[in-house]
Amino acid sequence: MNGVSHIIGGITAAAVLGIHSPAPLAIVVVASLLPDIDRPNSLLGRFIPLLPSILEKVPGKRTVTHSLLLGAGLWFILHAMSPSWAVAFAVGYGSHLLLDLFTGYVALLWPIPIKFGVPLFGIPPIAIEVAAIACWGAWVATGGYLLFLNMLHA
Ligand SMILES: [Zn+2]
Repeated sequence: MNGVSHIIGGITAAAVLGIHSPAPLAIVVVASLLPDIDRPNSLLGRFIPLLPSILEKVPGKRTVTHSLLLGAGLWFILHAMSPSWAVAFAVGYGSHLLLDLFTGYVALLWPIPIKFGVPLFGIPPIAIEVAAIACWGAWVATGGYLLFLNMLHA
């Protein structure tokens, strides 16, 4: 799943859960992109030198950066700084992991080498991604954007 899809997923989850302040929304966006720093060509990974290449080769894609262990560790650090930041992080990071489960296999319990996925009857991941973006577009086109406007004026 590409970075734009993960941002859309994270922002949508945030909107549904009532997160609408700029700083938490920024955290949601970064957290929704963060797991894919295990790929040098990802939206966030292309701005980080060396680390994505190392992560892609050593533990492998969709392992440590897609694990509940890393998510929980970062959540605890953020929670010590600001509980609302930790919630925003959990929404973004969690939405990423959830979406990836539908487009492949994820080592949620890394370092335990078990990968989880929800195969959708052989539907190719790109079709799921296109369908998700189309649903989001339909949601916005049918008035979903009003939710964002109401949040901005609340
Ligand atoms: Zn991912």
